[in-house]
Amino acid sequence: MATEEDLIDYSDEELQTTEAAPAAADTANGGAATKKGDLIVSGGRPDKKGSYVGIHSTGFRDFLLKTELLRAITDCGFEHPSEVQQACIPQGLLHSDLLCQAKSGLGKTAVFVLTTLHSLDPVEGEVQVLVMCHTRELAYQIKNEYARFSKYLPQVKTAVFYGGTPMQKDIDVLSNKETRPNIVVGTPGRLNALVRDKKLSLRNVKAFVLDECDKMLDQIDMRRDVQEIFRNTPSEKQVMMFSATLSQEVRPICKKFMRNPLEVYVDEGTKLTLHGLQQYYIKLSEQEKNRKLSDLLDNLEFNQVIIFVKSTLRANELDKLLRECNFPSIAVHSGVSQEERIKRYKEFKEFNKRICVATDVFGRGIDVERINLAINYDLPGDADSYLHRVGRAGRFGTKGLSISFVSNEDDEKVLKEIEKRFEVALPEYPEGGVDASTYMA
Ligand code: AMP
Repeated sequence: MATEEDLIDYSDEELQTTEAAPAAADTANGGAATKKGDLIVSGGRPDKKGSYVGIHSTGFRDFLLKTELLRAITDCGFEHPSEVQQACIPQGLLHSDLLCQAKSGLGKTAVFVLTTLHSLDPVEGEVQVLVMCHTRELAYQIKNEYARFSKYLPQVKTAVFYGGTPMQKDIDVLSNKETRPNIVVGTPGRLNALVRDKKLSLRNVKAFVLDECDKMLDQIDMRRDVQEIFRNTPSEKQVMMFSATLSQEVRPICKKFMRNPLEVYVDEGTKLTLHGLQQYYIKLSEQEKNRKLSDLLDNLEFNQVIIFVKSTLRANELDKLLRECNFPSIAVHSGVSQEERIKRYKEFKEFNKRICVATDVFGRGIDVERINLAINYDLPGDADSYLHRVGRAGRFGTKGLSISFVSNEDDEKVLKEIEKRFEVALPEYPEGGVDASTYMA
């Protein structure tokens, strides 16, 4: 919870000087550092009772959540809290600021959804929880998670706001007594516009959450919007930030928004790839990609597949081609109207389509349970994006397969960067293919 002056300037020099050592579980914040396996916990609010992290907790009941939440958790079929939930929920419930890195797909969303719902005391017309993320589909998904977990809390109202849709609709939601939200989820551009136009008041915000925080603070435009929004919230509030990738560079930036955050790194940076996910590459020329993709789709068993490409144009072209070849696919990218994007997201999530061609708008956070194959038709430009993309397969400890096409020198460099960054050897896809039983759940 930083003051305004702290946030104004982010010069590169400043970032380097505030950088902390990776596993140097920093005790400077007043909290003791704990390391258990790959879980590193440090910091936390020394003035709060119970800075002990409940890593021994085994059931959701141990968190002493509202009974309405426990019922919803049972309905969702969650039996045990995941490691990140065990590490973060107890502290979240104590209103500690939280900076958390944990692998993709292991339940980060439930950490902030459950802790904020537990603490929320809904007052009509007061926005108490603000959650921001970098894409509209992810915002929509998070809103649905709030809906799932607040099923037995009928007085809690949640709304989602993002660009590409008429702003008047959002204004109507905010001005109608029946729909005025207690929880707002959204993307920074639209939220900032609503705040600027005095349509959205943030003066009652008690919890400020950034999901995929590195992505949000990396990009200068988005960071500006985030800062602007942050300035409009009260200084006394809980700040929580999450991502699978929190580089040394971005951590100090995140911490500028916080006060003595508890820092939880469930996995060290090098161990962020998913255990159940088999990863391969295929070297081929650009011209060979379509044929190879079609072979893979014909020969591999999969429940749902996501195919990543580098541009909107390529997404459209590939989607068209696939459909011409009798592979019923859909394409999701920023060139489609927002309404249509959400429609396609739903179609894919609800298993009405099995093949999705996407740009990086689906590269992070998107949780589609049945995806067990991720194909990088175009390799992304950096190792972190690779990690997020392939993490779309193998959600919550399930198995999965990822195959990346490597077609030029830049791709080869990225491949090396991936191997180095995550200390994995990415083998070449075997000639005879991969036995389906090894990656199908
Ligand atoms: P997330 O990393 O938040 O996107 O979550 C990935 C998936 O794991 C989602 O489909 C969640 O519903 C699911 N999930 C989260 N926590 C649990 C849990 N404790 N038990 C079972 N599934 C979970």
